[in-house]
Amino acid sequence: MAIKLQEQDFDLIKSLVTTPGLPGREALITEKISQAIPSSDWEINQDPVGNLTARKSGQGKKLLFIAHMDEVGLIVRRITDDGFLKVERLGGIGVHVLPGSSMELWTSKGKSLEALVGAPSAHLVNGRSQDIEIEDLYIDIGAHSKEEARALGVNIGDGLTWKSDLQLLNGTRIRGKALDDRLGCFALIKVATLLGDIEQDYDIMVAFVVQEEAMLLEAAPIVRVFEPDIVIGVDGTLPFDTPDIDEPQSDLFLGKGPCIKLMDAIRGKIAYLPSWDLTRTIIRYMDESGFVYQPEVVIGLSTAVSLVPFMNSGVKTACFSLPIRYHHSAVELADVNDLERLIEIMIDLIRERVL
Ligand SMILES: [Zn+2]
Repeated sequence: MAIKLQEQDFDLIKSLVTTPGLPGREALITEKISQAIPSSDWEINQDPVGNLTARKSGQGKKLLFIAHMDEVGLIVRRITDDGFLKVERLGGIGVHVLPGSSMELWTSKGKSLEALVGAPSAHLVNGRSQDIEIEDLYIDIGAHSKEEARALGVNIGDGLTWKSDLQLLNGTRIRGKALDDRLGCFALIKVATLLGDIEQDYDIMVAFVVQEEAMLLEAAPIVRVFEPDIVIGVDGTLPFDTPDIDEPQSDLFLGKGPCIKLMDAIRGKIAYLPSWDLTRTIIRYMDESGFVYQPEVVIGLSTAVSLVPFMNSGVKTACFSLPIRYHHSAVELADVNDLERLIEIMIDLIRERVL
């Protein structure tokens, strides 16, 4: 099935990426996603930790597709006497890309305040080291004092997300925050929508999980309850195609197709190995059907399905990834063609009963 994204698709992507969803605080993005799923075909539920699922029951194998809803950000740790906010990272946000950023602060009352990450003036930094630690950063909300910051509604534990709109670059590239993994969420919404017209008998669940950026256990309650035969993850990964990379870790590029994961690793350990036979089956199908894809072996990240193989009595898993440049920054960049092909592959795997 050929997929060509239309204006209303980009409107939905824009609405998904501009909605906040910090780890553990995914209520607003959960609402957006649940509104976008065709509720006539799908039974929608939310579990006590906040994972959102939609199920289309069938007599065949149980398939579970997983993307994560949350995004990286900051949490307020202290308010200084001068009204600046000291922060900690919520997930693996890049400290080096923060100074000078526009952000939104989400108070415990749900109010959004304009905020920026302070950056030392260029006049003052000549010759000085540019290495910045999270302890050096401070947030400016325009307050003159701690009392004024508190009066604006700021409290310890409030969260901050980047303020960054969605843009299309050259008509082919999507720019925005939280493309990791809202584009995965969008792909699953699209699969759920398109499956309405397709005859197939799998028992399918699409899941939008919380707190992936904080830990990798979030899928556990869903896997325990649904007892899937097969789990397919959809997440972002790292391309190595920009001028700042001298020695590419892998040959992954924007625009050369979605990736099928063969291994990822974080913190010096293998983090995820997909089921080899299931992954080979998918690769064989993509080869025979002429799909363009990229085999992925990446060090430095992992994904929501990484612990699923060892849940219940063991679960077969595979994972697709979208290459996303400038990962975990305000200007993440993905390729429209990669996204369209990813949706096509997932639809075809179901329609052609490949799994
Ligand atoms: Zn991700």
